[in-house]
Amino acid sequence: MSLVVKNEIINQVTPNNMRSKIVAGNWKMNKKFDEADELLYQITDELNNNPIDNVQLVICPPSLYLELATDFADASEIKIGVQNVSEHKSGAYTGEISVEMLSSVDVEFCIIGHSERRKYFAETSEQLANKVNNLLEFGIEPIFCIGEQLEEREADKHFEIVKKQISEGLFHLSPSEFSNIVVAYEPVWAIGTGVTASPEQAQEMHAFIRGVISEKYGTELAEETSILYGGSCNAKNAKELFSNTDVDGGLIGGASLVAKDFIAIANSF
Ligand code: PEP
Repeated sequence: MSLVVKNEIINQVTPNNMRSKIVAGNWKMNKKFDEADELLYQITDELNNNPIDNVQLVICPPSLYLELATDFADASEIKIGVQNVSEHKSGAYTGEISVEMLSSVDVEFCIIGHSERRKYFAETSEQLANKVNNLLEFGIEPIFCIGEQLEEREADKHFEIVKKQISEGLFHLSPSEFSNIVVAYEPVWAIGTGVTASPEQAQEMHAFIRGVISEKYGTELAEETSILYGGSCNAKNAKELFSNTDVDGGLIGGASLVAKDFIAIANSF
């Protein structure tokens, strides 16, 4: 995409603070039961000592620990999410977990399209779109992940790739359906690598994404959409990343496994 076209899209939107700030922890495939229990206790303790202000905290543990986590969430301002859901509604799909099951244990968010699922489980845009539809039917908010690979950024294709991912996965939705979507920009080269996008790179892409949403659904809805940054965000760099107008919080992997760091990140606005 030419720079002129990119800048036209970015400039269509003047950001403001209408949208929710969200910090979501993606525990991935980590922690045994006792460790998960302990981490939830530690997070609650940290929250008591360092209360967060006006930020929605979401924890996405492995699904096996959902009941444990929702019990903690009931007693705090934390909301519980999951890392994946089946694209099928019910039936003979061995090993899968349906959206109806998640809804029955009070799950409120679901990460969709994480680059690890796109890469290791070959999830397609069509599957992701189906998952989004199922979640919305049951009132669970998708945290929809998009982001380019390093080679794509190096080839200056990052805007094109991100626009394609968001269009294919989400733009079949009506405006009222889309209003329940949280977007997470996660450059693949930054996930779990210790290499973080610079605050400028994050702001540039977030503004672009908001512009793309604005083109499709109008400025008002674009302004209301929370766009999170993910990729080696930690207690040290969160403040600088979150200070950008279009960065509304973070999707946090590694640092969400350390209670002190996770709550420090949530206190970084
Ligand atoms: C993630 O997996 O969504 C993520 C952002 O991981 P990390 O923070 O470890 O880079």
